[in-house]
Amino acid sequence: MSRRKVYLETFGCQMNELDSELVAGRLRALGYAFTPTPDDAHVVLYNTCSVREHAEQKVWSRLGELKARKAADPALVVGVLGCMAERDGEALIRRMPVVDVLCGPGELDKLPALLDNAVRTRESLLRDEPAPEGHTPRLISAREVALQGNTSRRSATLAAAADSLELLDLSRSVSPIDDDGSVKRSAYVRITRGCNKFCTYCVVPFTRGAEVHRPPEHIIDECRRLADAGVVEVTLLGQTVNHYRFEHGAAVTVDGVVQPQKGRSYAGGHRRDPFAGERVTTFADLLARIHDEVPGIARLRFVTSYPRDFGDDVLEVIRDHPRICRYLHVPAQSGSDRLLGLMNRGYSVGEYLEFIDRARAHLDQPEIGRPLGLSGDFIVGFPTETDADFDATVALLRRVRYKNAFIFKYSPRPGTIAIDRYPDDVPEAVKRARNTTLLDVQGEISDELGREQVGRTVDVLVEGASARTRKRRASSPGTVALTVGGRPAGADADFAAADAPGDEPVQLSGRTDTDLIVHFDASPTDALAWRGRIVRVRLDRAAGLSLFGTLIS
Ligand code: SAM
Ligand code: SF4
Repeated sequence: MSRRKVYLETFGCQMNELDSELVAGRLRALGYAFTPTPDDAHVVLYNTCSVREHAEQKVWSRLGELKARKAADPALVVGVLGCMAERDGEALIRRMPVVDVLCGPGELDKLPALLDNAVRTRESLLRDEPAPEGHTPRLISAREVALQGNTSRRSATLAAAADSLELLDLSRSVSPIDDDGSVKRSAYVRITRGCNKFCTYCVVPFTRGAEVHRPPEHIIDECRRLADAGVVEVTLLGQTVNHYRFEHGAAVTVDGVVQPQKGRSYAGGHRRDPFAGERVTTFADLLARIHDEVPGIARLRFVTSYPRDFGDDVLEVIRDHPRICRYLHVPAQSGSDRLLGLMNRGYSVGEYLEFIDRARAHLDQPEIGRPLGLSGDFIVGFPTETDADFDATVALLRRVRYKNAFIFKYSPRPGTIAIDRYPDDVPEAVKRARNTTLLDVQGEISDELGREQVGRTVDVLVEGASARTRKRRASSPGTVALTVGGRPAGADADFAAADAPGDEPVQLSGRTDTDLIVHFDASPTDALAWRGRIVRVRLDRAAGLSLFGTLIS
């Protein structure tokens, strides 16, 4: 039989994108191929997100669209992976019987086996019991389910080395060539799984389980293998990435809780970890080690940072190591102390600003084209949010001057603390209006920051053809294996579209180490050669967050 084709669509965050990449690698090793549309797929997988209701609705509608297809083709295997699978459990199958496979984010190492079982079961049942002529084949009711369920917080606290999910990251098939034939230049590397913060609005601690830090040797080895394969930019991932702290040889109790070494427990905070030393690898240590031990990585980035856990040691390491990017994504969520308290964020606006000032003092160097890049997340319309609370959020945006901000309307999520404790009392129209106002304020700030860059010369890591070039050359060949929220995944895949013949200059896009997006023209003959390289660009004009410049070298 020809290779079975898989359509895999990813919703939500970078963590999900990485999970999809790892799952895809394992499935390829089992002989599956990938297809860019669900229409000719034998297996359709959705890697889902539960953070907001809107993200879940998209998946419900995709599953609804599969009903007719599944009725006509019962051998089709449909899988829901990730946070929705974990949160809804088997209720999801009751609501959508098209679903054959459910796999939570903490169980993805089991997915290849589950899928293989599901595919084989369906094929053999259909071989043995074909539908009588003129009859629609019946739906097959066997299901494959792997969820952490209510054990998630316990099982996920096992030391990472003993954790079977670690095998998924370790099994990464580091291949320099993507499905579209282009060389992979950027990659995500997970350093921490799960989250222990329990912000009251958030499902993540329930769907992804407790915080587990991966051993530094595994992380560094993965970075080295990626660099050897041609990757030049690595982004370290964690929900609170700067909370990373690995205790070597720490005791693990029977129920999986990692015990700090006696008398050496460190509660986090803004100061240097007093117990860091040979037996503890802190986030600062990890950054420095990757920088020094893997020189092939030209850019080292990390997301998402938690404002309370930033020691000066991390800021000093970023300052002193030139290949670590001066870009911090530090969600504030609100500018009101009262709301930060209700959200259980664990810091006040004053403490947040103290951190921003400290970060700027260490890292902001606009005069040499290295302004510190700051971005944040905000939630508008959290229960009880008043106009005064919202005004405080606007004031915070103006004070910090983020280069960009991700702004979300509060979405009550089943299973969270907030949904039980605080009625969702801000009307939808008010949420919408505040969302628009905040986006407008951020737009003004981004415009100002963009204009301040004009005239400077910056280093740009070239990612691929710009959206403009891709649109113009949309008719050119180029296959894409994975999609993110329905879009093709991966800048390299985009680059394939720039590979079309033609004389007009190709507009290329890339980013500075402070995460500013820069476009510039290159001749069509050179265009591919620039991919993955760091070039000097003089900035000529700005349009919001997009900067346009001239290639110097
Ligand atoms: N761990 C990161 C942090 O705390 O900074 C963020 C992870 S969360 C998946 C991404 C963003 O989604 C959050 O920063 C928050 O702004 C937003 N978010 C989470 N739960 C939400 C909810 N129930 N309603 C609206 N936005 C939400
Ligand atoms: Fe959710 Fe808060 Fe953890 Fe971020 S830190 S993942 S918002 S609980």
